[in-house]
Amino acid sequence: MDQQDIDAVVEVLKSDWLTTGPKIEEFEKTLNQYIGSKNAIAVNSGTSALDIAVAALELPAKSEIITTPLTFAASANCALYNNCVPIFADIQADTFNIDPTEIEKKINKKTKAIIYVDYAGLPCDIKQLREIADSKDIYLIEDAAHALGAEYNRKRTGTFADITEFSFHPVKHITTGEGGALTTENEEIAQKLRLLRTHGIDRSARERFGPDAGYAYDMKMLGRNYRITDIQCALGISQMKKIDRFLQRRKEIARKYTKLLREFLPQVRIQHIPDDRESAWHLFVVLVPNRDKVFNLMRKKGILVNVHYIPTYKFSYYRTNFKIEDKDYPNTERVYAGLLSLPIYYDLNDEDIEFVVRSLGECIKEAKS
Ligand SMILES: *Cc1c(COP(=O)(O)O)cnc(C)c1O
Repeated sequence: MDQQDIDAVVEVLKSDWLTTGPKIEEFEKTLNQYIGSKNAIAVNSGTSALDIAVAALELPAKSEIITTPLTFAASANCALYNNCVPIFADIQADTFNIDPTEIEKKINKKTKAIIYVDYAGLPCDIKQLREIADSKDIYLIEDAAHALGAEYNRKRTGTFADITEFSFHPVKHITTGEGGALTTENEEIAQKLRLLRTHGIDRSARERFGPDAGYAYDMKMLGRNYRITDIQCALGISQMKKIDRFLQRRKEIARKYTKLLREFLPQVRIQHIPDDRESAWHLFVVLVPNRDKVFNLMRKKGILVNVHYIPTYKFSYYRTNFKIEDKDYPNTERVYAGLLSLPIYYDLNDEDIEFVVRSLGECIKEAKS
């Protein structure tokens, strides 16, 4: 947050529209320009975005939606909000992204969509996923909460899937406090997403405002109130001015971690980044032996490591309501056992990075003894 961000928010607080005002369209236009998308729809969170992404597809009840277990719970929960069933497909052992071969094994007549996550910021193999989706006539939703500015074949994420979702929670690349957005190239879907964002009502408050505007409106779909405020969008517009710098620094940090780890800790595994892709580096994850011990030792040193994520199928809610067994997801289990996220954020300096890697080496050694 800098003074520009603060000024942008204060300006809206002094203006006529706190919500449903002009800053929302301006933010959406900014996102379209950056991503190269036709339609951006800003909402109040990434989770809301996922919810209406599924709702917009108007799937029959009990439809199956395939997703990865190595993600934030929201990627699967959105299926349940819409009376659909989340089905987990195992991940690839090297990229940690959902495995297209595993997806194919799970597809049946009830399968209507795939929600793939660009884990840690690394785009999935979109070409392969598109082939599967087209041949089986199912929708693709991209959970790009980690991947604003990531690239596949030199093109930014946000136009590959039928609908792409982004999050602007403070831990993500840019923030609006809470917030999210959807992008789609499909006009019909875009229109439905706009309806679903605001109760399914077809005229906005601004369109019903003023001396010549009538009062009438229709409710066409069972929408939600997932509107984002102009206050938040003003912050988003200001943050987007800095996205290149934010991403650049994340890439530098990732490069430095990679170099130091390869040199000094070759036993530590890192995420494989295929040549046709550029990660947005939301996370920098490593696989270490004795992870829980290493985690505790690193925290004791004051290094805020984390674990992204506990596989969704392990949560008691999923355990209680679905027949899922750990052994069905061998790659997820193996990766999760060693998974550790190292600190990565704009202000992290080079000495910090060296300190983290040195400490990681010490903690791994200590955890073994
Ligand atoms: C952050 C995140 C979300 C949800 O975003 P919110 O804005 O926090 O609701 C969804 N999916 C993934 C993978 C995320 O990391």
